[in-house]
Amino acid sequence: MATILHVDMDAFYAAVELLDHPEYQGRPLIIGGYKDSHRGVVSTCSYEARKYGVHSAMSIKRAVSLCPQGIFIPGRTERYQQVSREIHNLFTQFSPQVEPLSIDEAFLDMSGCEHFYRSLEKMGQAVKDRINQTTGLVASVGIAPNKFLAKLASDWKKPDGLMVIYPEQVDSFLLSLPVSKLWGVGEKTRRELQRHGIRTVKELRIYPQQWLEQQFGSLGNQLYYLARGIDKRKVEPMADVKSISQEQTFDTDYADRGFLKSQLALMAAKVGHRLRQQGLYTRTIGIKVRFSDFKTITRAHTLDYGVCDDDIIYKVGLQLLDAIPITLIRLLGIGAYNLSEIQQLSLFENTIETNELSTLIDKINQKFPNSPLTKGRTLYKKPKR
Ligand SMILES: [Mg+2]
Repeated sequence: MATILHVDMDAFYAAVELLDHPEYQGRPLIIGGYKDSHRGVVSTCSYEARKYGVHSAMSIKRAVSLCPQGIFIPGRTERYQQVSREIHNLFTQFSPQVEPLSIDEAFLDMSGCEHFYRSLEKMGQAVKDRINQTTGLVASVGIAPNKFLAKLASDWKKPDGLMVIYPEQVDSFLLSLPVSKLWGVGEKTRRELQRHGIRTVKELRIYPQQWLEQQFGSLGNQLYYLARGIDKRKVEPMADVKSISQEQTFDTDYADRGFLKSQLALMAAKVGHRLRQQGLYTRTIGIKVRFSDFKTITRAHTLDYGVCDDDIIYKVGLQLLDAIPITLIRLLGIGAYNLSEIQQLSLFENTIETNELSTLIDKINQKFPNSPLTKGRTLYKKPKR
């Protein structure tokens, strides 16, 4: 039986801000934009702010109306990434098998390490204590025989949570859960299950695997196993999960392709610059588009070779953008994923030449930071509105 530990930092961005600004302590803190921001969205808020009904993904405007006395600040991504690296480094002191899930979450495969601790509770407490002593931040921890259950457990007693689900407790824990707690069940599936009278895991268990598969395809299969507490996914340590991305919320919504292209070019240049600065190459380039109604989509493309050059990053990003029907857009982003220190040259394309041009531009800009050199495509005159 495996022992999987899931760690999730509590209100991570807000917690980092509280750490850096003790004067915010005890006051509702909302991250995502200043109070007068008409377009910002709450990315995280402190537990004090949650008491007023503020939650993430809500517009700043709405948050201000719910909690006018709150402190409103935009986020500091670089600082959060720095703390995130610190925390992820701590994880490797507990297990070599660490799978980072996001900036503030990870799975640790603790199988075989059980005997180092008096109990699984002590193991979880040790991870929490180390994080707290090193960074001053609070994490919630869940420990269970697999990933699915460990993630449920870390969420169960949040904030400052610690929960262990022992193998013999799995059944009783699962049966009372609503199906929406099962991994893969979104709003649409939840409603479909409800149509069949299935609301809880207990009700789901009545249905044979074949029926579930007929109704829901491969998800049905997954539901069959998850409802029985079975999840065979392994903790997959990734050699490098770092990503470098840029995004921008516009001051008004734009549908103008020319403008969007220029912004994409500008952000692609920044992403490329940061890759070269860190000696990294990307194989996967992704874009993020948020429409005026807040619907957000992401698209990505993976190359068979590594690049760090603006031109290619921009070209791929533009292809992805071109494939999206453009209506009014409020946010646009581009990112480089799948990073490595090795270029993995393609047999078919040579990217060296264009890299040289970008490197030259980097050098010139380093010398004359006040009048940076850019490529023509980043220039665009905003349409009059
Ligand atoms: Mg979290």
